[in-house]
Amino acid sequence: MAGWIEMVSQIRRPHLGEDVSVLVFRAFRVFMGIYLDDVLGHKGAITLFQNAGRELGKEVGEKLKEESLEAYLGKVIDFVKDARIGILVPVDVNRERLVVALDECITCAGMPNIGKRICHFEAGFVAGIVETYTNKKVRAYETKCNAHGENICEVVVELNYA
Ligand SMILES: [Zn+2]
Repeated sequence: MAGWIEMVSQIRRPHLGEDVSVLVFRAFRVFMGIYLDDVLGHKGAITLFQNAGRELGKEVGEKLKEESLEAYLGKVIDFVKDARIGILVPVDVNRERLVVALDECITCAGMPNIGKRICHFEAGFVAGIVETYTNKKVRAYETKCNAHGENICEVVVELNYA
């Protein structure tokens, strides 16, 4: 999906400007998620959201790419914070897997426990960011979510998948 970031970057809203509230973002994001869940079923909706997030993660990853993992991770953390997506905190990094927490997650921070995790786009985004660096397909899934009563968002990336 190369080139899409450049296209959506072209914003002409002389009266309304470029900022919208987190509430508006969440309403768009969560209503789409609920609807897709109804239409495609839970598994289909998760796959769709995660793959879309993965594509975006790969595009963003290409823009932030660095030789060393430390430098790359640092740039990703800064990007996520500057874009006010959340506060990305590496929890565990080893040869088999990468675990990152996303505090103050744009999608779910503060939400009540609805009994399911909803940040599949974000999990895919993390997967895409990692795939840009490792050049191979990884498996990612959300292991904690505010919407599941876990007070933070957390994503596990299995590095030796496929
Ligand atoms: Zn979440």
